[in-house]
Amino acid sequence: MSLKTRNALVTGSTSGIGLAIARAVAAEGANVTINGFGPAEAIETARAEIETDFGVRCRYSAADMTRPAEIAAMVAEAEAAFGSLDILVNNAGIQHVAPIEEFPIEKWDQIIAINLSSAFHTIRAATPGMKARKWGRIICTASAHSLVASPFKSAYVSAKHGIAGLTKTVALELATFGVTVNCISPGYVWTPLVEKQIPDTMKARNMTKEQVIRDVLLTAQPTRQFVTSEQVAAFAVFLCSDAASQMTGSNYSMDGGWTAA
Ligand code: NAD
Repeated sequence: MSLKTRNALVTGSTSGIGLAIARAVAAEGANVTINGFGPAEAIETARAEIETDFGVRCRYSAADMTRPAEIAAMVAEAEAAFGSLDILVNNAGIQHVAPIEEFPIEKWDQIIAINLSSAFHTIRAATPGMKARKWGRIICTASAHSLVASPFKSAYVSAKHGIAGLTKTVALELATFGVTVNCISPGYVWTPLVEKQIPDTMKARNMTKEQVIRDVLLTAQPTRQFVTSEQVAAFAVFLCSDAASQMTGSNYSMDGGWTAA
């Protein structure tokens, strides 16, 4: 178990990719703070399963990633509860699909807050401890949309391009402190986030569900297959390893060839 002495915090980890990352770092022995929304019972089940499946400590923070004060408190509490915060995964994210002239202003603000600004707030709060301990791993779940655009996703694409820039900047600032900062940029991963955008995409493009999956989603991915949450999580674990200590400031694609085209 390569992460036995480490303590992790994964934002947006009550479902999808974040939950897979939380479970994967726990499987390597890290204690983990999970975060996100959902039914209380389901969250408690996911939390307890991490403890029983992997023999680590797992705590839950209900912090809302649109609220800077809650984010700062979440980081401070995670650090205090386990004695350090060594691995920070900025993963919380939402999507909204609409033409630019109809894009709801509050959705723009919410997506920028959750998908971009929350990472600024977590990194800002986690950095002093990582610098002092001279070890840290900061990983952001970006997206193929941090590198290329798709129509009707103005806020999401803007936020994800922003997270790629934030990652590079912080990597340079922390390079001599043993702290690496990287993005993982998946293509389409079959999670609730993707499932939920299908009805709006059907409306925006006047397509059936099958057409959206075939002609919008998987058409972008030359492999014609979804990425899995577990594949993203396995790479996150690798980025936490000593073998990855010289990998920093990079944006790693895992997109079935999407951004090669
Ligand atoms: P998901 O909907 O399964 O999970 C999103 C998580 O974020 C959930 O735990 C949710 O509760 C949490 N969350 C949402 N709003 C929050 C808030 N205000 N405060 C705290 N937590 C909040 O989605 P997912 O597909 O697993 O997405 C995870 C990340 O991966 C996102 O950043 C997303 O942009 C990115 N991503 C997803 C895909 C994909 O195809 N699914 C592709 C590339 C990147």
